[in-house]
Amino acid sequence: MRIATAAAPPFYKNGFVVSCEETRAAVLIDPGDEVEELLDAVRSDALNVQAILLTHAHLDHITGVGRAKAALGVPIWLHRDDLFLYDGVVEQGRMFGLRVDAQPPVDRFYEPGESLRFGRYIVNVLHTPGHCPGGVCLAIGRDEASERELFVGDTLFSGSIGRTDLPGGDMETLLQSIRTVLFRFPDDTVVHSGHGPDTTIGVERTTNPFF
Ligand SMILES: [Zn+2]
Ligand SMILES: [Zn+2]
Repeated sequence: MRIATAAAPPFYKNGFVVSCEETRAAVLIDPGDEVEELLDAVRSDALNVQAILLTHAHLDHITGVGRAKAALGVPIWLHRDDLFLYDGVVEQGRMFGLRVDAQPPVDRFYEPGESLRFGRYIVNVLHTPGHCPGGVCLAIGRDEASERELFVGDTLFSGSIGRTDLPGGDMETLLQSIRTVLFRFPDDTVVHSGHGPDTTIGVERTTNPFF
C-alpha cells in the first residue's frame, strides 16, 4: 500500500491518496482544500484513481470533491445518513464564516457490509456513527490478507475522539462505535485520522483518555 497525504489551512484536515503498488489503482479519501496536492500526487505517480471515498460530509472533508471529480471523473461515495450535511455544505460554511461552493451530486451510497476493490486491495466500509450520523471508517488492506489500515475520518484521533456537538453528533453513539467497530482490530493496526498524526489501535485502546 502506498499512501500520499496532504493538509491545508484553515482546518488542516488530512486528505489521502491510497494506491496499489503493483497496479497503480488508487482511491482518493476526503479531498478538501488540499485537493490540488493530492491530484499532483496522482499525476506524478501516474495513478489510476477509481473512486472518491468520503468518511463523512463535514465541510473540511468535502470542499475538494468538485475539483477531484472534474479532474478524475470517478464516482463519489458517501453514507446516505450524511447526505443532509453534504447537501448543506454551503450552510456549513456559513457557520464557520466561510464561503464554500456546493459540491457535485453523490454518485453512490455505501450499503451495509460494502466492500470495494482497487488493484490488489480491498476497502471494507464500516459504519461508525457518533461524530455525525453517516460517519464511516475505511479498513484497507491486501485482498488476500487480514491486515488492514484504518482511515477513520474524525471518529478517532491520536489521544482524542471526534467532536459530537455538531448537528447529528452523539457522544454515547461515538464511544460505542469506537469500542465495537474499531477496537476489535489488532493492536498493531495503523489508524490514519482526519486531523493530526497517525496512531494505532493498541495505543488508543490503552492510553486514549476517553476509554
Ligand atoms: Zn468531521
Ligand atoms: Zn474534520
